[in-house]
Amino acid sequence: MTLPLKITLVAACALVDADGRVLVAQRPEGKALAGLWEFPGGKVEPGERPEATLIRELDEELGIAVKEACLAPLTFASHAYETFHLLMPLWICRRWEGSIQRKEHQALQWLRPARLRDIPMPPADEPLIPALIDLLGP
Ligand code: C5P
Repeated sequence: MTLPLKITLVAACALVDADGRVLVAQRPEGKALAGLWEFPGGKVEPGERPEATLIRELDEELGIAVKEACLAPLTFASHAYETFHLLMPLWICRRWEGSIQRKEHQALQWLRPARLRDIPMPPADEPLIPALIDLLGP
């Protein structure tokens, strides 16, 4: 009998600037999928609301303060990795307080949604690109 894979819930956020560009962050050396470009966010802790996860992670990773009212749900990813199944809802955020700092990632960059196709992203993140193009244009 094949046991079901463990489900991991990760909350992710596309920060959007005034030109409709989206922030992506390069995963740190030494972590799984190092070097790939992801939407900021992180694992939802047991009992934690995903919006609270995002607010916590955006502070930890980028040093910004986001209000829950500024998080708009857009879509979600569902991807079967070999050892776990990742469910990853994606929110959009256009307003935050503080200036973005690179605290945990190797690098940060702002890209128009269609340009996200040109950078290596985790397989769970790639399917989120069309929803961003639909919302923001290419
Ligand atoms: O970021 P963290 O390593 O805690 O995420 C747990 C796992 O979820 C990663 O090992 C990676 O496989 C996956 N992940 C992903 N896309 C993201 C964030 C995490 O596929 N944007």
